[in-house]
Amino acid sequence: MSNTGVTTSSLTVIPTSISTSKNEGTIARTPFDDPGADIVIRSCDKTCFRVFMAVLRLASPIFADMLSIPQPVDASSGAGETYDGLPVVDVSEDARTLYYLLQWCYPMTSPTVTQMSDLRLLLLTSRKYAMDMFREDLQSHLRLAISSDPVGAYVAAVSNGLEDLATQAAVRSLQLSLTDFHSPELRHIPAEDYNVLVQYHVACGIAASDLTSKRFWFAPIPDILQTSPACNECFILDPRPSSVTWYAPRVLWAYLQRVGPTLMRQPDGDAILTNEFLPDLHGQGRCPGCGKDRTLPLNDFGKLLSTAVGLAVEKVPKPVLKF
Ligand SMILES: [Zn+2]
Repeated sequence: MSNTGVTTSSLTVIPTSISTSKNEGTIARTPFDDPGADIVIRSCDKTCFRVFMAVLRLASPIFADMLSIPQPVDASSGAGETYDGLPVVDVSEDARTLYYLLQWCYPMTSPTVTQMSDLRLLLLTSRKYAMDMFREDLQSHLRLAISSDPVGAYVAAVSNGLEDLATQAAVRSLQLSLTDFHSPELRHIPAEDYNVLVQYHVACGIAASDLTSKRFWFAPIPDILQTSPACNECFILDPRPSSVTWYAPRVLWAYLQRVGPTLMRQPDGDAILTNEFLPDLHGQGRCPGCGKDRTLPLNDFGKLLSTAVGLAVEKVPKPVLKF
Protein backbone atom coordinates (compact mmCIF):
# COMPACT_ATOMS: atom_id res chain seq x y z
CA MET A 1 0.00 0.00 0.00
CA SER A 2 1.53 3.28 -1.04
CA ASN A 3 1.11 6.28 1.13
CA THR A 4 1.50 9.75 -0.26
CA GLY A 5 0.16 11.38 2.87
CA VAL A 6 1.25 14.60 4.56
CA THR A 7 2.95 14.58 7.91
CA THR A 8 3.30 17.62 10.13
CA SER A 9 4.65 17.72 13.65
CA SER A 10 1.36 16.60 15.13
CA LEU A 11 -0.71 15.55 12.17
CA THR A 12 -0.68 12.66 9.81
CA VAL A 13 -3.11 12.74 6.95
CA ILE A 14 -3.50 10.00 4.41
CA PRO A 15 -5.41 11.60 1.59
CA THR A 16 -4.47 9.47 -1.38
CA SER A 17 -3.85 5.92 -0.27
CA ILE A 18 -4.78 3.38 -2.87
CA SER A 19 -7.83 1.59 -1.60
CA THR A 20 -10.10 -0.98 -3.03
CA SER A 21 -13.04 0.17 -0.93
CA LYS A 22 -15.52 2.80 -2.08
CA ASN A 23 -18.12 4.82 -0.22
CA GLU A 24 -16.89 3.48 3.10
CA GLY A 25 -18.63 5.22 5.97
CA THR A 26 -21.90 7.00 6.58
CA ILE A 27 -22.67 10.51 5.50
CA ALA A 28 -22.71 13.25 8.15
CA ARG A 29 -25.82 15.22 8.95
CA THR A 30 -26.66 18.64 7.54
CA PRO A 31 -24.89 20.82 6.53
CA PHE A 32 -22.17 18.28 5.83
CA ASP A 33 -24.22 16.26 3.37
CA ASP A 34 -24.16 18.99 0.72
CA PRO A 35 -24.24 17.42 -2.76
CA GLY A 36 -22.37 20.44 -4.12
CA ALA A 37 -19.35 19.85 -1.86
CA ASP A 38 -16.00 19.11 -3.46
CA ILE A 39 -14.23 16.91 -0.91
CA VAL A 40 -15.02 14.41 1.81
CA ILE A 41 -13.37 14.57 5.25
CA ARG A 42 -13.77 11.22 6.95
CA SER A 43 -13.58 10.81 10.71
CA CYS A 44 -11.79 7.95 12.44
CA ASP A 45 -15.17 6.41 13.16
CA LYS A 46 -16.05 6.52 9.46
CA THR A 47 -18.42 9.42 9.19
CA CYS A 48 -18.04 11.26 5.91
CA PHE A 49 -18.38 15.05 5.89
CA ARG A 50 -19.03 16.57 2.47
CA VAL A 51 -17.37 19.97 2.66
CA PHE A 52 -16.04 22.77 0.50
CA MET A 53 -12.28 22.96 0.23
CA ALA A 54 -12.32 26.76 -0.01
CA VAL A 55 -13.96 27.03 3.42
CA LEU A 56 -11.45 24.73 5.04
CA ARG A 57 -8.52 26.53 3.43
CA LEU A 58 -9.70 29.83 4.87
CA ALA A 59 -10.30 28.38 8.33
CA SER A 60 -7.05 26.51 8.83
CA PRO A 61 -3.56 26.79 7.32
CA ILE A 62 -3.09 23.10 8.08
CA PHE A 63 -6.16 22.22 6.06
CA ALA A 64 -4.87 24.54 3.35
CA ASP A 65 -1.57 22.63 3.25
CA MET A 66 -3.34 19.29 3.24
CA LEU A 67 -5.64 20.26 0.43
CA SER A 68 -2.87 21.76 -1.66
CA ILE A 69 -1.91 18.21 -2.53
CA PRO A 70 -3.72 17.23 -5.73
CA GLN A 71 -6.71 15.12 -4.84
CA PRO A 72 -7.85 12.29 -7.07
CA VAL A 73 -11.26 12.98 -8.54
CA ASP A 74 -11.82 9.80 -10.46
CA ALA A 75 -12.03 6.54 -8.60
CA SER A 76 -11.75 4.60 -11.86
CA SER A 77 -8.15 5.78 -12.16
CA GLY A 78 -7.29 3.74 -9.10
CA ALA A 79 -5.30 6.69 -7.78
CA GLY A 80 -7.15 6.94 -4.49
CA GLU A 81 -10.31 6.39 -2.53
CA THR A 82 -13.42 8.32 -3.30
CA TYR A 83 -16.81 8.75 -1.75
CA ASP A 84 -19.60 9.38 -4.23
CA GLY A 85 -16.93 10.44 -6.67
CA LEU A 86 -15.28 12.95 -4.27
CA PRO A 87 -11.74 12.51 -2.95
CA VAL A 88 -11.56 11.38 0.67
CA VAL A 89 -9.26 12.78 3.36
CA ASP A 90 -9.04 10.64 6.48
CA VAL A 91 -8.38 12.42 9.76
CA SER A 92 -7.81 11.07 13.25
CA GLU A 93 -10.68 12.99 14.92
CA ASP A 94 -13.97 11.28 15.67
CA ALA A 95 -17.25 12.44 14.16
CA ARG A 96 -18.39 14.38 17.24
CA THR A 97 -15.18 16.41 17.36
CA LEU A 98 -15.17 16.92 13.61
CA TYR A 99 -18.75 18.12 13.60
CA TYR A 100 -17.90 20.89 16.06
CA LEU A 101 -14.70 21.76 14.20
CA LEU A 102 -16.28 21.96 10.75
CA GLN A 103 -19.36 23.73 12.06
CA TRP A 104 -17.09 26.47 13.38
CA CYS A 105 -15.39 26.73 9.95
CA TYR A 106 -18.68 27.31 8.18
CA PRO A 107 -20.43 30.70 7.94
CA MET A 108 -23.09 29.72 10.43
CA THR A 109 -23.72 30.20 14.12
CA SER A 110 -20.64 29.04 16.01
CA PRO A 111 -21.24 25.94 18.09
CA THR A 112 -21.56 26.32 21.83
CA VAL A 113 -19.40 23.72 23.50
CA THR A 114 -20.35 22.92 27.06
CA GLN A 115 -19.19 19.37 27.75
CA MET A 116 -15.77 19.36 29.35
CA SER A 117 -14.50 16.40 27.32
CA ASP A 118 -15.47 18.22 24.11
CA LEU A 119 -13.74 21.38 25.26
CA ARG A 120 -10.53 19.54 26.07
CA LEU A 121 -10.49 17.64 22.78
CA LEU A 122 -11.46 20.64 20.65
CA LEU A 123 -8.79 22.80 22.24
CA LEU A 124 -6.24 20.14 21.33
CA THR A 125 -7.67 19.83 17.84
CA SER A 126 -7.82 23.59 17.24
CA ARG A 127 -4.13 23.77 18.09
CA LYS A 128 -3.37 20.86 15.78
CA TYR A 129 -5.11 22.61 12.89
CA ALA A 130 -3.74 26.05 13.86
CA MET A 131 -7.25 27.51 14.16
CA ASP A 132 -6.40 30.39 16.45
CA MET A 133 -9.78 32.12 16.43
CA PHE A 134 -11.58 28.89 17.22
CA ARG A 135 -9.12 28.32 20.04
CA GLU A 136 -9.95 31.73 21.50
CA ASP A 137 -13.66 30.92 21.34
CA LEU A 138 -13.04 27.63 23.10
CA GLN A 139 -11.02 29.31 25.81
CA SER A 140 -13.97 31.62 26.45
CA HIS A 141 -16.24 28.59 26.76
CA LEU A 142 -13.77 26.95 29.13
CA ARG A 143 -13.59 30.10 31.27
CA LEU A 144 -17.37 30.01 31.62
CA ALA A 145 -17.31 26.30 32.50
CA ILE A 146 -14.88 26.75 35.38
CA SER A 147 -17.59 27.66 37.87
CA SER A 148 -19.63 24.52 37.24
CA ASP A 149 -16.75 22.04 36.95
CA PRO A 150 -13.46 23.46 38.23
CA VAL A 151 -11.68 20.10 38.38
CA GLY A 152 -12.67 19.18 34.82
CA ALA A 153 -11.73 22.68 33.67
CA TYR A 154 -8.36 22.33 35.37
CA VAL A 155 -7.74 19.15 33.38
CA ALA A 156 -8.76 20.80 30.11
CA ALA A 157 -6.55 23.80 30.82
CA VAL A 158 -3.54 21.74 31.88
CA SER A 159 -3.93 19.41 28.89
CA ASN A 160 -3.76 22.42 26.62
CA GLY A 161 -1.00 24.38 28.34
CA LEU A 162 -3.38 27.16 29.42
CA GLU A 163 -1.74 28.28 32.64
CA ASP A 164 -4.00 31.23 33.38
CA LEU A 165 -7.16 29.15 33.05
CA ALA A 166 -5.61 26.32 35.05
CA THR A 167 -4.93 28.78 37.87
CA GLN A 168 -8.47 30.16 37.72
CA ALA A 169 -9.83 26.62 37.90
CA ALA A 170 -7.58 25.77 40.86
CA VAL A 171 -8.80 28.86 42.75
CA ARG A 172 -12.41 27.99 41.97
CA SER A 173 -11.80 24.42 43.18
CA LEU A 174 -11.43 25.82 46.70
CA GLN A 175 -15.22 25.99 46.76
CA LEU A 176 -15.21 22.21 46.66
CA SER A 177 -14.28 19.88 49.44
CA LEU A 178 -11.30 17.70 48.55
CA THR A 179 -13.63 14.72 48.88
CA ASP A 180 -15.65 16.11 45.97
CA PHE A 181 -12.74 16.14 43.53
CA HIS A 182 -14.44 13.80 41.10
CA SER A 183 -14.17 14.21 37.35
CA PRO A 184 -14.01 11.59 34.61
CA GLU A 185 -11.57 13.97 32.94
CA LEU A 186 -8.90 13.37 35.57
CA ARG A 187 -7.52 10.36 33.73
CA HIS A 188 -6.28 12.70 31.03
CA ILE A 189 -3.58 14.41 33.10
CA PRO A 190 -0.54 12.96 34.89
CA ALA A 191 -0.79 12.31 38.61
CA GLU A 192 1.89 14.98 39.08
CA ASP A 193 -0.38 17.70 37.69
CA TYR A 194 -3.31 16.47 39.79
CA ASN A 195 -1.08 16.55 42.83
CA VAL A 196 -0.29 20.22 42.16
CA LEU A 197 -4.01 20.95 42.39
CA VAL A 198 -4.44 18.92 45.58
CA GLN A 199 -1.40 20.45 47.28
CA TYR A 200 -2.63 23.96 46.50
CA HIS A 201 -6.02 23.08 47.99
CA VAL A 202 -4.39 21.64 51.11
CA ALA A 203 -2.16 24.72 51.56
CA CYS A 204 -5.21 26.97 51.31
CA GLY A 205 -7.06 24.75 53.79
CA ILE A 206 -4.29 25.13 56.33
CA ALA A 207 -4.14 28.91 55.81
CA ALA A 208 -7.92 29.27 56.18
CA SER A 209 -8.42 27.00 59.18
CA ASP A 210 -5.44 28.55 60.92
CA LEU A 211 -7.43 31.78 61.21
CA THR A 212 -9.70 30.23 63.80
CA SER A 213 -6.82 30.20 66.26
CA LYS A 214 -5.63 33.71 65.38
CA ARG A 215 -7.10 37.02 66.45
CA PHE A 216 -5.35 39.60 64.25
CA TRP A 217 -8.37 39.71 61.96
CA PHE A 218 -10.83 40.42 64.79
CA ALA A 219 -12.60 43.76 64.79
CA PRO A 220 -15.09 45.05 67.35
CA ILE A 221 -18.71 44.36 66.42
CA PRO A 222 -20.73 46.11 69.14
CA ASP A 223 -23.34 43.45 69.87
CA ILE A 224 -21.19 40.34 69.51
CA LEU A 225 -17.49 41.04 69.83
CA GLN A 226 -16.12 43.49 72.37
CA THR A 227 -12.89 44.25 74.16
CA SER A 228 -14.72 44.89 77.41
CA PRO A 229 -17.83 42.92 78.30
CA ALA A 230 -21.12 44.75 78.21
CA CYS A 231 -22.53 42.02 80.40
CA ASN A 232 -20.67 39.36 82.34
CA GLU A 233 -23.55 36.92 81.96
CA CYS A 234 -23.80 36.78 78.18
CA PHE A 235 -20.33 37.85 77.13
CA ILE A 236 -17.68 35.18 77.61
CA LEU A 237 -13.93 35.70 77.73
CA ASP A 238 -12.08 34.47 74.66
CA PRO A 239 -10.83 30.97 75.55
CA ARG A 240 -7.66 31.62 73.55
CA PRO A 241 -5.23 34.18 75.01
CA SER A 242 -4.17 36.97 72.70
CA SER A 243 -2.68 40.46 72.88
CA VAL A 244 -6.18 41.91 72.97
CA THR A 245 -8.74 40.52 75.37
CA TRP A 246 -11.97 39.73 73.56
CA TYR A 247 -15.45 38.97 74.87
CA ALA A 248 -18.33 37.50 72.91
CA PRO A 249 -21.46 35.40 73.38
CA ARG A 250 -20.65 31.76 73.90
CA VAL A 251 -22.09 30.75 70.51
CA LEU A 252 -19.49 32.85 68.75
CA TRP A 253 -16.61 30.91 70.30
CA ALA A 254 -18.40 27.67 69.53
CA TYR A 255 -18.88 28.77 65.94
CA LEU A 256 -15.20 29.61 65.59
CA GLN A 257 -14.24 26.19 66.90
CA ARG A 258 -16.64 24.38 64.60
CA VAL A 259 -15.72 26.08 61.34
CA GLY A 260 -12.02 25.21 61.60
CA PRO A 261 -12.31 21.65 60.22
CA THR A 262 -14.70 22.87 57.53
CA LEU A 263 -12.25 25.49 56.34
CA MET A 264 -9.52 22.85 56.25
CA ARG A 265 -11.62 20.73 53.89
CA GLN A 266 -13.10 23.62 51.93
CA PRO A 267 -11.08 26.84 52.21
CA ASP A 268 -13.79 29.09 50.92
CA GLY A 269 -15.22 32.08 52.77
CA ASP A 270 -18.76 31.34 51.64
CA ALA A 271 -18.61 27.79 53.03
CA ILE A 272 -18.98 29.10 56.58
CA LEU A 273 -21.88 31.40 55.79
CA THR A 274 -24.28 28.60 54.95
CA ASN A 275 -27.31 27.60 56.95
CA GLU A 276 -25.35 24.64 58.22
CA PHE A 277 -23.49 27.03 60.52
CA LEU A 278 -25.28 30.30 60.83
CA PRO A 279 -28.46 29.17 62.62
CA ASP A 280 -26.24 28.26 65.53
CA LEU A 281 -25.19 31.87 65.79
CA HIS A 282 -28.69 32.90 66.75
CA GLY A 283 -31.18 32.05 69.39
CA GLN A 284 -29.51 32.75 72.68
CA GLY A 285 -32.69 34.49 73.67
CA ARG A 286 -32.97 37.03 76.45
CA CYS A 287 -30.01 37.28 78.83
CA PRO A 288 -31.04 36.86 82.48
CA GLY A 289 -28.22 39.24 83.49
CA CYS A 290 -28.73 42.32 81.31
CA GLY A 291 -32.17 41.45 79.99
CA LYS A 292 -31.08 42.05 76.41
CA ASP A 293 -32.23 39.89 73.55
CA ARG A 294 -29.16 37.96 72.54
CA THR A 295 -30.66 36.71 69.33
CA LEU A 296 -27.88 38.63 67.74
CA PRO A 297 -26.80 39.55 64.21
CA LEU A 298 -23.87 37.19 64.46
CA ASN A 299 -23.78 36.90 60.70
CA ASP A 300 -21.56 39.96 60.86
CA PHE A 301 -18.90 37.90 62.57
CA GLY A 302 -19.24 35.17 59.95
CA LYS A 303 -18.70 37.77 57.25
CA LEU A 304 -15.64 39.10 59.08
CA LEU A 305 -14.14 35.62 59.11
CA SER A 306 -15.19 35.03 55.53
CA THR A 307 -13.29 38.13 54.42
CA ALA A 308 -10.24 37.04 56.41
CA VAL A 309 -10.37 33.63 54.72
CA GLY A 310 -10.37 35.26 51.30
CA LEU A 311 -7.32 37.35 52.20
CA ALA A 312 -5.46 34.40 53.72
CA VAL A 313 -6.08 32.17 50.72
CA GLU A 314 -5.04 34.94 48.35
CA LYS A 315 -1.59 34.91 49.94
CA VAL A 316 -1.07 31.20 49.23
CA PRO A 317 1.22 30.80 46.19
CA LYS A 318 -0.73 29.78 43.11
CA PRO A 319 -0.10 26.35 41.60
CA VAL A 320 3.04 26.15 39.50
CA LEU A 321 2.63 23.98 36.43
CA LYS A 322 5.37 22.89 34.06
CA PHE A 323 4.23 23.07 30.47
ZN1 LIG B 1 -26.26 39.82 79.31
